[in-house]
Amino acid sequence: MTSPIRYTILPARPEAHLYRVTCTVAQPDSAGQRFALPAWVPGSYMIRDFARHIVSIRAASRGRAIAIEKLDKHTWRAEPAAGPLAVNCEVYAWDLSVRGAHLDTRHAFFNGACVFLRVLGREAAPCELEIVRPRGARYRNWRVATAMARKGAKPYGFGAYVASDYDELIDHPVEMGEFTRSSFHAGGVPHDIVITGRHAADMRRLQRDLKRLCEHHMRFFGEPAPMKRYVFLVIAVGEGYGGLEHRASTALLCSREDLPREGDIEVSERYRTFLGLASHEYFHTWNVKRIKPAAFVPYDLDRENYTTLLWAFEGITSYYDDLALVRCGLIEKKDYLELLGRSITTHLRTPGRARQSLAESSFDAWIKYYRQDENSPNAGVSYYVKGSLVALCLDLLVRDKTRGRKSLDDVMRVLWRRHGLTGAGLEENGIERLAEEATGVKLERYFDDWLRSTRELPLKTLLATQGVEMELRPAESAQDKGGKPARSKNAAGLALLGIRARAQGDDTAVTHVLERGAAREAGVAAGDGLKRADADTCVLAELAGARARLRERWLRPRRV
Ligand SMILES: [Zn+2]
Repeated sequence: MTSPIRYTILPARPEAHLYRVTCTVAQPDSAGQRFALPAWVPGSYMIRDFARHIVSIRAASRGRAIAIEKLDKHTWRAEPAAGPLAVNCEVYAWDLSVRGAHLDTRHAFFNGACVFLRVLGREAAPCELEIVRPRGARYRNWRVATAMARKGAKPYGFGAYVASDYDELIDHPVEMGEFTRSSFHAGGVPHDIVITGRHAADMRRLQRDLKRLCEHHMRFFGEPAPMKRYVFLVIAVGEGYGGLEHRASTALLCSREDLPREGDIEVSERYRTFLGLASHEYFHTWNVKRIKPAAFVPYDLDRENYTTLLWAFEGITSYYDDLALVRCGLIEKKDYLELLGRSITTHLRTPGRARQSLAESSFDAWIKYYRQDENSPNAGVSYYVKGSLVALCLDLLVRDKTRGRKSLDDVMRVLWRRHGLTGAGLEENGIERLAEEATGVKLERYFDDWLRSTRELPLKTLLATQGVEMELRPAESAQDKGGKPARSKNAAGLALLGIRARAQGDDTAVTHVLERGAAREAGVAAGDGLKRADADTCVLAELAGARARLRERWLRPRRV
């Protein structure tokens, strides 16, 4: 049996945001062991070069210093040593996002990709991790939350944890601090909700609602669920939003106002946003953490991993995140249709949909979607938003062509059986083949149109097949996100400048100038200021409102 790679992590100087991390290899490569830090974190498709946060690195064997040489931006090689070889790094951590590493005197959070060196050639070896409590009285009450398996550590305690290989080691983010915790079982699997940061959340409500949601997703793909336990790691802040999926947990960043309070009965718009985020990341437990594009099997952590399939992994997940909320009864049908109307509005307000196809958007995620600038709305389309609308179109089309006998749900279940349960990567055309096979509907021409061309999606026609009427109306104000019918008949007629803007003191700063708008014609550029008086007329041309007659079965759960 191969000896495990041993890691330790100590929040060494929380006030200076410095972790001390060691990696010890019992039998290093006799030609000189190489180590590397990932350039990106799976789930967030952008090169982040985490090695830039390593502020010192040293190697030693049996108490003797060993020379360590840097080979490229994130790879090192130690001089040959008989072993054991220990590499010791200081890592700076001041990124309070779900994709990074953070450390201060209040709490610590990290993704393994930011802190744990990969031992090249030994990626398949089991890993043991010792999480060490920071020194000092103020850290006496800190605890640890992670989905990583314990090996000696007490529940929520510092101490020893274990992962079957490097890929798993970096797929269990870790939170340390004085968090609030609540637990529940769904489908026989223990789940934790861990909230860090100041908040006044009604934990019983969260527990009840998340349980319902998790059980719904489990039944959707079929029990038993593929994880032994699951942890929602929530960081509550003043303003913030984000999530990152993992095999047995998710890291969520939200505003504390998004969490339900004691005494709230309704699902507020903000809580609905939180539930949608939790639903999205939980669905990923199946769709992208286990059903994966072949391009991610295994992940190449040194560079971009290109795939045209992000529309399926992010778009289909975005379709089912809100749909699950209505199907399991957490929100009403009218709320769901409002959310759908808003997605359609967002899409129709993006002139870049005429420039970039969905497959291109996915392939170029690394340099476009994740690196947006003032021209992004004119140049590209979101594989989340358009991807979710393509999933909707696919679902509606299949339901219509098969008279309700088949749906996208059937496609997802076949995907799960063929690729999720087996771990076989999905080829670039895999989902298209499986969708035809699972539904018996010829879909090639639709996929060509929806994925590989910039033709408009037939949303209105397909929604009508389920009795949902979609109508476009002018925006009523700059805050109008769509999804609701016009408030008055006279709303039309506002000037359409074709800009996006944000408040700046008493004035308004232009952030984006949209293709074919009056502002573009007049030579307005991003960064220009506008007087507040003008800003009220800065509304966009297109907006969708969805109104439903609701004779459809589409929003109801289907028992398998
Ligand atoms: Zn996602």
